[in-house]
Amino acid sequence: MDFKKIIKDVFKDVNSIEEQGALASYIPELANVNSKKFGVHISTLSGINFGLGDFQEKFSIQSISKVLSLCLAYQMLSGEVWDRVGVEPSGNPFNSLTQLEKDRGIPRNPFINAGALVIADILLSNLDDPKKDLLNFIRSLSGNQDVNYSTSISSSEKSIGYRNVALCNFIKCFGNIENEPDKVLDFYFDLCSIELSCKDLSALFLFLANNGKTMHDNRQILLPSKTKRINALMQTCGFYDESGEFAFKVGLPGKSGVGGGIIAIHPGQYAIAVWSPQLNPKGNSYKGMKFLEGFTTLSELSIF
Ligand code: GLN
Repeated sequence: MDFKKIIKDVFKDVNSIEEQGALASYIPELANVNSKKFGVHISTLSGINFGLGDFQEKFSIQSISKVLSLCLAYQMLSGEVWDRVGVEPSGNPFNSLTQLEKDRGIPRNPFINAGALVIADILLSNLDDPKKDLLNFIRSLSGNQDVNYSTSISSSEKSIGYRNVALCNFIKCFGNIENEPDKVLDFYFDLCSIELSCKDLSALFLFLANNGKTMHDNRQILLPSKTKRINALMQTCGFYDESGEFAFKVGLPGKSGVGGGIIAIHPGQYAIAVWSPQLNPKGNSYKGMKFLEGFTTLSELSIF
């Protein structure tokens, strides 16, 4: 399979289509990002590493971090996680409050904001130094020490985070948040603010293509049975109320963030990351989705 040629061809095609979408300007700091940025990077289990465009530039990974915080909680707690958060697609926007009332404070899945707040609460209750421990966990996935939170992005989001404040307090009133909401929210805004490049992302998510084992130092991060479930959740819930569309058009487990990044996994084959900051109305990268659709179509490699 000539991944490099396919990536070059699809990149050229998608780069030439008319710009569509909008920056996630509800987070003031993200309104300053250059909307023309476009990068892609693939890391395969066979050892190919290849990128194009702005693949080495760091950007705000936002909700992509929800997969990483979930992996850490799942590694520590096993099945107890699912008493606190569900595994069903929400069919609603990522920041919706409506289902929580009916579901009595149990978020539909860990990849909507409500679910990620509960996972943040679990980490706060179970780690000595959650902020440092999460960073060390992420650094250990690819052996890359150059991973950090962005204080300008986290404080920018905190300054307007009224909806997340509402979500956290609402879940707390049902008893599904143990810690003080302020602490949970600070940690949540921190984890959303992590900055990584497409190259960093594809390298560190490769363990999910490799049955839960890192490639660089052969450590079992998650059991294969747990890895399967994380990939299943990315497939069914990774794109909020556009998860069906992503499965239909791309056919890979994946996760997006409002920074314009998408990570997608082909179990047994590769991890691929795309970044283009302009978002479609569902909050997913417009060009990122187009690129991945072209990539799995041309390579005829999707999980279906
Ligand atoms: N930090 C963002 C928020 O809470 C994350 C949303 C996203 O990337 N979909 O609104």
